[in-house]
Amino acid sequence: FPPGPQSQALFERAHAVFPDGTTRITVERDPFPRYIARAKGAYLTDADGKRFLDLNLNFTTLIHGHAFEPIIAAVESQIRNGTCFANPTEAEVELASLLCARVPRLERIRFVNTGTEAVMFAVKAARAFTGRSRIAKIEGAYHGAYDWVEVAQASVPQNWGPPDSPAATPYYRGMPASVLDDVMVLRFNDAARARELLSRHASNIAAVVIDPMPSRAGLIAPEPEFVTALQKTAREHGILIISDEVLNFRQASHGAAARYGIQPDLFALGKIIGGGFPIGAVGGLADVMKVFDGSAGRPLVPQGGTFSANPISMVAGHAAMKALDEITFARLERLGNALRNRLEDAIARANAPFSVTGAASLFRIHPKPRPPREFREAHWNAAEAKVMTEMTRSFAGHGILLPVGAAACLATTMGEVEVDAVAGALEAFLDQNAELVEE
Ligand code: PMP
Repeated sequence: FPPGPQSQALFERAHAVFPDGTTRITVERDPFPRYIARAKGAYLTDADGKRFLDLNLNFTTLIHGHAFEPIIAAVESQIRNGTCFANPTEAEVELASLLCARVPRLERIRFVNTGTEAVMFAVKAARAFTGRSRIAKIEGAYHGAYDWVEVAQASVPQNWGPPDSPAATPYYRGMPASVLDDVMVLRFNDAARARELLSRHASNIAAVVIDPMPSRAGLIAPEPEFVTALQKTAREHGILIISDEVLNFRQASHGAAARYGIQPDLFALGKIIGGGFPIGAVGGLADVMKVFDGSAGRPLVPQGGTFSANPISMVAGHAAMKALDEITFARLERLGNALRNRLEDAIARANAPFSVTGAASLFRIHPKPRPPREFREAHWNAAEAKVMTEMTRSFAGHGILLPVGAAACLATTMGEVEVDAVAGALEAFLDQNAELVEE
C-alpha cells in the first residue's frame, strides 16, 4: 500500500516549489509522501481515496482525533466574530485558567504559536531569572528548533562521545561554536553522572531542559533515581527545571511532570492544548514568570508574537481540553495499557526480538529484544531501520499509519476495534516475517 498516483502527481508539482518536495522534514516518504484529502475521528483518507487508521495524529496533537465536533462548533462561531486582534480576548483567559487550575506549579502562563517557541521562551526565562546562559539537555531528546536545544539531538554513533561524557554535537552545518559551548549534554536515566556533571558546572547553568518521556530518544519513562538526582542537584545549585511537555502533556490531566514526580519551575506546552490549531505555551511558577511582566516598563524577557493567543487556537484548545476530563484520561490510560499488553503478548508468542515502550495514550515499538533505557540503546542500526520500514509498510497494508521512529498515539475516538486492529497488524507482520525476526 504505497501512496498512489494522486500523491505522486502532487509530489511532482511540489518539487517546483519546495526544496525537496516537502515543506517540513518530518513528513514521511516511502517512496514519496502520502497526501491527505480529508479526515474524521481516528481515520484519514488519502488523495487516492484509501482510508487509514491514523496513529500519528499530527505528531500526537489530535487527542480527540480529526474534526472533533465540539472543536468545529467552537471554531465556527469564533471565525464569524473575527480571527485575530491586537487586543486580548476572553478566550485566552478561559484556556489559561483551565490549564493553571489543573497543573501543579503552572501558576502563570503565556501563549505562543508553537512548541519551539514555548521551549525558546522557557530557556530565555530561565536565563533571565538566574543570570546564567548555559543549559543542560538530554542526549537525543527533541525540543523543537531553538538552536541550544537542537544540540545533540540526532547525532550518529561515531559522534556520540564516551558514555560518561556525551558530546555537544551540532545539528546543522554552521551552528555557532558558542551554541555548543553553552549546552551540557546529559544521558537519560544516568543518575550518578547527571548529578556529577550538573554539580561540577552548576555555576553557569540556568536550567535543565527535560522531556519526561522523550519520544525520539525512545519514549522511555524516567527512572525515579534519575528524577531525584536531577531534582535535588538542580535545587542545591539554583538551576531551574524546564519540563518540556509539548508532547507528553497528553499523559494526564495534571501533566507529565506531576506523573513522574518532577517539580518544574517552568513548563513548555503545545500540541493538544490547541485542539488541532497552532499553539504553544510557556508557564510556571509566578515568581519565575515575572521575567515576562511588563507592567513597570520593559520586562527582563520581552515576549510577543503576531498570532500569539489568537482566539481560534484559544477556543479550539479550550474545547479540546474541556472534553478531556478525568474520566476520559482514565479511559485513554486503560486503552493504552490494553494495547501495549496486546503488543507485548504478540511479541512474546512469536518469540520475536521486539519490545514496546510508552505510557498512557502513547507507544513505540522497538526492534530490540529488551525495552531500551535511553537514547543510545534505542538507536537503530541499518538492519533495524530496515525492519522498522518493513513493519510500517506492513501496517499500511492493513490500513494503519504507524509513525516510524516517533511516538504513536491513541485518541479518545478510538476503542477496542482500533486496539484489535493494531495488535492484529503486528501479529500479521510477525507471522509473515519469521526470517526478519529470527535472532
Ligand atoms: N518539544 C517537544 C517535546 C516536541 O515533541 C515538539 C514537537 N514534536 C516540540 C518541542 C516542538 O513543537 P512544534 O513542532 O510545535 O514547534
